[in-house]
Formats: sequence, structure tokens, C-alpha cells
Amino acid sequence: MSSFVAHTLVGGVIGQRVAPTVAGIAVGVVFALLPDIDYALLWLRGEGFSMRWTHSVSFVVLAAGTMLWRRELFLIALLSGLSHLAMDTLVGVHRNPLLWPLMDRGLASPIGLLPSAGRLDPTNFYFWRNLLIEMGILLPLLAAMRAHGGLRIAALLVAGAFVVWSLSLAR
Ligand SMILES: [Zn+2]
Repeated sequence: MSSFVAHTLVGGVIGQRVAPTVAGIAVGVVFALLPDIDYALLWLRGEGFSMRWTHSVSFVVLAAGTMLWRRELFLIALLSGLSHLAMDTLVGVHRNPLLWPLMDRGLASPIGLLPSAGRLDPTNFYFWRNLLIEMGILLPLLAAMRAHGGLRIAALLVAGAFVVWSLSLAR
């Protein structure tokens, strides 16, 4: 899985780009985090789902459907939810049932472009290292969306360097 920091960042940017309002950004953040609601249940109740069906396209579409009353918020919810699935898939560690209920088998990327978030523990070295790599990829990519010319190329090179670091890590 990607970190909650990365999901929050990407969801917020999606919301800001589609509808630059507090509501747009808030919907982006909430729906970018929503597939990990199974973790919240695990932490609160000590039990989770045997299958992570919240990490499926069908769950994301159904959840985004609650925003159909405003077209731009529906679009933000849908894109943010799908961004969560894409980012978790790019980690390439855990299989997620992306096509549930059509296919129970989980799918994962054969290569891990993003590092796994690691155990959420401030004393866990790998959490901080992987968060650094994740931000080293995402922040320059997001900056490149706004930059032009040499700045855009520099931002993409920085992101590329962090991708190379990520790819070099054991999975
Ligand atoms: Zn997730």
C-alpha cells in the first residue's frame, strides 16, 4: 500500500484541479483515503475483511456514486478513489481484488514503482525511508504539472532518480 500522506496529497491535488474549492479538496482527500477504511476497522475492532474488497473498482464507483448530486464532486470522488487503487497497485507488493466481484483473484504490478508504506510506527526506519522515496517521486511529479521548460525537466529527473531508488529496493 501507499502511505496515507501520499493518498491525501494526490486526492487533494485532484480536488483542487477539478474544483478548486474547500469542498472539492475535501472530497478528493476523503475518497482518496476511503479504500483503506478496512484498516480503520482493523485498528478499531481488531478485525478486518478477509478480502480487501474496498480496493476494487466496483467499491470506488459505488462510493463515488454518493456524490452524484454534484457532477464535479462525483468526478473528484471517482478519480481520487481510482488514484488510490493505482498507487497501491504501483507498490507491487500486495495483491488487491481490483476487479471484484468479477474476479476474486488479486492483481498487482510485476514491478514496484512506489515503495510500500511500511508499518505505521514512528520508530520504523522503513516507514520514514519509504515515505521519503514516495514524496521524492510524487512531489516533483505534481510540481512538473505546473512547471514549464527546464524546471519541468528537472522535476521529472528528480522523480526519476527516486523511482530508480525505489526499484532497487527488495520487495
Ligand atoms: Zn490502500
